[in-house]
Amino acid sequence: MPRYGFHLSIAGKKGVAGAVEEATALGLTAFQIFAKSPRSWRPRALSPAEVEAFRALREASGGLPAVIHASYLVNLGAEGELWEKSVASLADDLEKAALLGVEYVVVHPGSGRPERVKEGALKALRLAGVRSRPVLLVENAAGGGEKVGARFEELAWLVADTPLQVCLDTCHAFAAGYDVAEDPQGVLDALDRAVGLERVPVVHLNDSVGGLGSRVDHHAHLLQGKIGEGLKRVFLDPRLKDRVFILETPRGPEEDAWNLRVLRAWLEEA
Ligand SMILES: [Zn+2]
Ligand SMILES: [Zn+2]
Repeated sequence: MPRYGFHLSIAGKKGVAGAVEEATALGLTAFQIFAKSPRSWRPRALSPAEVEAFRALREASGGLPAVIHASYLVNLGAEGELWEKSVASLADDLEKAALLGVEYVVVHPGSGRPERVKEGALKALRLAGVRSRPVLLVENAAGGGEKVGARFEELAWLVADTPLQVCLDTCHAFAAGYDVAEDPQGVLDALDRAVGLERVPVVHLNDSVGGLGSRVDHHAHLLQGKIGEGLKRVFLDPRLKDRVFILETPRGPEEDAWNLRVLRAWLEEA
């Protein structure tokens, strides 16, 4: 069975532990969080009590798979001080994931030279002292500008001969020209040939406001964008049956109810 969940907020008194409570209350089987404000370099300390509460709640939930999304400010393709800050910020997220027992950390490759991105990701793993867990995933980009990782072949190059793995964002793939709407199986075949689907443990299951090849990174709710039913075939593809699917769309009670209704109807059809 695919695991599914939302990107949850850690704002509020309970911090990261509040996200586990919310996931459980919503009946999610996985979730994603930021470990700090995604638009600020300011680090966020985790108190021992917060860590303990997070671990205890997750254990009580049967160990919901969890993902930490790196800060949006991180650009591993940058040069100079921005690169150093990016690597340090990512290393901080990896350390926090290790402390919390979170399985995956997802980062956008950024823009610039692919060699720089690879070097930055590996340096962050070294700084954080990561051995096998958490797994660092590079996410495919929507393309445009100097963005690294819009093509599956480039992702394959980034992760080759490293412990890095890949997070597939369906909206980004569609915006980069992969036709997830008409040929979702074909897109997964292409990813399998390039990277190997066994190295894709997490999927960001977003529909797309922008059209095929538009390079517009604007997520839509399930069945409310240009991909539509194609996402069902990604979600239910037997090759991805035990993967973690995360929705990264704006939240609200109505939006949550809608997206959960769609996902659960799809699961029932399977
Ligand atoms: Zn994403
Ligand atoms: Zn996006």
